[in-house]
Amino acid sequence: MSDIYSNYKNHVLIFTLYSVILLVMLISQNSYATSTNKNQSPINIMDAYLLKAKLPSLELNYQGSITGLYYDGKSLNFSMNEQNFIIINDKKFVLKNIHFHAPAEHKINGKSYDVEGHFVHEDHDGNIAVIGVLFKSGKKANATFEKILAEIPTSKGQKITISKPIAISDLLSSCSMEKYYTYSGSLTTPPFSEGVLWIVLEDVIDISSAQYKKIKQVHKKNNAREIQPLNARFISCSL
Ligand SMILES: [Zn+2]
Repeated sequence: MSDIYSNYKNHVLIFTLYSVILLVMLISQNSYATSTNKNQSPINIMDAYLLKAKLPSLELNYQGSITGLYYDGKSLNFSMNEQNFIIINDKKFVLKNIHFHAPAEHKINGKSYDVEGHFVHEDHDGNIAVIGVLFKSGKKANATFEKILAEIPTSKGQKITISKPIAISDLLSSCSMEKYYTYSGSLTTPPFSEGVLWIVLEDVIDISSAQYKKIKQVHKKNNAREIQPLNARFISCSL
């Protein structure tokens, strides 16, 4: 009787182990599938693939300020106060995070840019919309960027509280909210989830070479994901 019982116990144990292995295989296969899906970001935005349309002007409601900076070892992240949001299709998308990539992730007609800012928004149902803004370095310095650089963290994990908060809207004040590219893509960092609405502003922001150097001192390692294939997607842009 006890033999039958221990046999039964062994079978249960083997069955449980087998189930766990199957589950792990299934999960790892799923996460692999996520990174090989067909609608990934960033992309090279080519004129040849643009669908020109009458797009609505972006409704930015950024009342808050940047109150802190944090370098997580990959990207420079901003902390903010107040409620900051955009309206897309009558839905409110709240600004959750701002971070930078150096070099930029998106390319325009094959051209690379020096820095890209990502303004990550989320709606009530967890849908994500990211506004991407490109920066190029040259002779012209950017005053708002200078204020950020004055307080920039220099090492991983360092959190800085900004003494004089910087209005978030100042960062994008030189960009038109009527001219942008938009397509359906993904997060550019793991888990590379798709269904992300991308809005890449057409206007590029000028920063000086000295400002770019300072940004690169923080982003020592390239934190831009490589360009992903467009596959069966359209990119819309303003007329
Ligand atoms: Zn990003």
